[in-house]
Amino acid sequence: MRHGYTVTINKTCLSHISFFNADTANLCASSRMRNVFSVRLLFDVIKTTKIYFRKLMHLKLLFNFHRTIFSGKQAVRVLRLPKYQKPSKRKMALKEKEGKPQSSVSELKPWPSYIEDRLKLWNKLKEQQQAELANKVLEPITVTFPDGKTADAIAWKSTPYDVAKSISQGLADNSIIAKVNGELWDMDRPLETNTNLQLLKIDNEEAQQVFWHSSAHMLGEAMERIYGGCLCYGPPIEGGFYYDMFIGEKGVSNFDYPVIENLVKHIIKEKQPFERLEVTKEDLLEMFKYNQFKVRILEEKVTTPTTTIYKCGPLIDLCRGPHIRHTGKVKAFKVIKNSATYWEGNAKAESLQRVYGISFLENKQMKEWEKFQEEAAKRDHRKIGREQELYFFHELSPGSCFFQPRGAHIYNTLIQFIKSEYRKRGFTEVISPNIYNTKLWQLSGHWAHYSENMFSFDVEKESYALKPMNCPGHCLMFDQRNRSWRELPLRMADFGVLHRNELSGALTGLTRVRRFQQDDAHIFCTTNQIGQEMMSALDFLRHVYTVFGFTFNLRLSTRPDKYLGELEMWENAEKQLADSLNEFGEPWTLNPGDGAFYGPKIDITISDALKRQHQCATIQLDFQLPIRFNLSYICESGEKKRPVIIHRAIFGSVERMIAILTESFGGKWPFWLSPRQAIVISIGVQYDEYAEKVKKQIYEAGFMCDVDIDHGDTLNKKIRNAQLAQYNFILVVGEMEKNANTVNIRSRNNNVHGEVSIEETITRFSKLSLSKTNNSEEEF
Ligand SMILES: [Zn+2]
Ligand SMILES: [Zn+2]
Repeated sequence: MRHGYTVTINKTCLSHISFFNADTANLCASSRMRNVFSVRLLFDVIKTTKIYFRKLMHLKLLFNFHRTIFSGKQAVRVLRLPKYQKPSKRKMALKEKEGKPQSSVSELKPWPSYIEDRLKLWNKLKEQQQAELANKVLEPITVTFPDGKTADAIAWKSTPYDVAKSISQGLADNSIIAKVNGELWDMDRPLETNTNLQLLKIDNEEAQQVFWHSSAHMLGEAMERIYGGCLCYGPPIEGGFYYDMFIGEKGVSNFDYPVIENLVKHIIKEKQPFERLEVTKEDLLEMFKYNQFKVRILEEKVTTPTTTIYKCGPLIDLCRGPHIRHTGKVKAFKVIKNSATYWEGNAKAESLQRVYGISFLENKQMKEWEKFQEEAAKRDHRKIGREQELYFFHELSPGSCFFQPRGAHIYNTLIQFIKSEYRKRGFTEVISPNIYNTKLWQLSGHWAHYSENMFSFDVEKESYALKPMNCPGHCLMFDQRNRSWRELPLRMADFGVLHRNELSGALTGLTRVRRFQQDDAHIFCTTNQIGQEMMSALDFLRHVYTVFGFTFNLRLSTRPDKYLGELEMWENAEKQLADSLNEFGEPWTLNPGDGAFYGPKIDITISDALKRQHQCATIQLDFQLPIRFNLSYICESGEKKRPVIIHRAIFGSVERMIAILTESFGGKWPFWLSPRQAIVISIGVQYDEYAEKVKKQIYEAGFMCDVDIDHGDTLNKKIRNAQLAQYNFILVVGEMEKNANTVNIRSRNNNVHGEVSIEETITRFSKLSLSKTNNSEEEF
């Protein structure tokens, strides 16, 4: 698959664009994002903002982690809010004890001088705007609502807020933002012509983004008043927002959070209105001359003669808007993390301080959010991985995970699960090289766009690279000899090790890694076989996700404006995809124009036990790779024909799936996947030998079984410890069991199953393992 350059944009506003690297651990289908970008490219992306919002419509709002959205040749990944970094109470107390102030910052007195200068220019420009507005002809216009009802209004005078209020005060108060003739519009901005009006509440994705985006301004205002630096970009992100500020050598400390939060409380209390002004580039260069970053944005990214600024309180910010009506709409606000970053993600540029925040319409939602964060923190896969001795990372190989024996057991069991399905579902496994001459990547087209994400090196004066995906290698395998129609569909599966060169700063646990494996397969088929292959791919993923207890959403992305290949082929393929989705019977949505340039695709988003969403699987058609590799097969009539490639995977990366499963199960692994399936506990030294024998028998039958013959603890304590260590079954042995060749079984949930023979135990274990039940502790 093609993996193109991408810059991500979270909002139309100039100051509210974010830059970052994508997740490595998605599919071969997952495109890459570069944090090196060109201005031209940025503009392309800004132009596609509308598409972005369309995509946003499909996002779930809160706690909706880990999403990569594919858009044509570019993947747009929405940056997620990082985990809540609660200031350590212990450290705070320690500081207090030492008599040190908890934070070295407070609101600046006086404010930095640029605030006053900016305000003076604003007042002058505002007067001009009001004079212009006074000259407008106040004509009657018609406002039409989505249900077809209409209302009367006056051009250049009535605002969406007025119109909403004429219906009900509740509607006016609950509407976060308006949509005027399809364009997001401030609630207090006068309407200009006849209008199709939509009023969006917080349950709307776009409204949520506007809410967080507005909160970013409030954070920016507080940061100016506390640190006095130069604000850079402050976008909404998935689950919250951040603002970057240049404050020279100074840093932000987490002891500053309460200072920022208290100031924001005042900002909320003041109900500062968000005011909009359209200003010439010239005036803006004057207004922001104190801030080299805003000047850079103006010079490099503003091509129109005028652009907009917004004011809330003393903050005036370069921004396309729109925003909430006033700062009082935000009822709960929290700073959740800070970090150092670079201007536009470029390590050679200035170092900036980034402050992340979260905000809500109601305090109750903040309480729920905090509770959720606590639960998520308990389940953090890095924490559980460490505690259960499953896996770890080492600084000597960043982004490449060490799987300890118990972690490797999970890894292998997952792969074994897919392998056993492959046998049933007509896939054959292949093994392909890790290192290729870069000529391969030139042929596949990856080299032009993707080489920076690949580890490459010279061997005997030729350039080689570690593979970041399997598809090009599989094309060579397909092309190894002439192929007949009788061989199709040819389903090539590969668990090969893949490497992607992620920036070390972007690596996070198992969710963003440099080394990973996928349950990757490429299906070479005829155009007519697409529908049938889709059906079986969908059935496959439903089977796997049901075992994990995940629910999922399906989305069909169709032909983008810029596509390669014949129109007829696209239409035929899209019809087959839609038909197979209909036949599949699960609800699905259409995402028109959002396919890759080389083929349509089905994106699958799963919901885990915490109702968090992850995109793992993708089923992606590719009409172009077979052309680049000049692949063909001989059809029934003896002619040469071009096959279609379907890229598909269910886990995506095994590494990332393990992170999701660890957090979804919260470390309580189901029996079939468990790295601690059973433990034998001897109740006295004289039964130790028998305990060892039982352990050996069960282990040799293929189960992860340990033995506890340490007699330092009481029996009850040992059982308790085993339960806490998440052993699914605890087998206690003493005199009676030894004589009868039995064990006394209880589960980690304290289900007591009593005395069972060793043989019977193994039989029942095998059944539980085979059924992959999530409830083996009771079903035993
Ligand atoms: Zn803004
Ligand atoms: Zn692929």
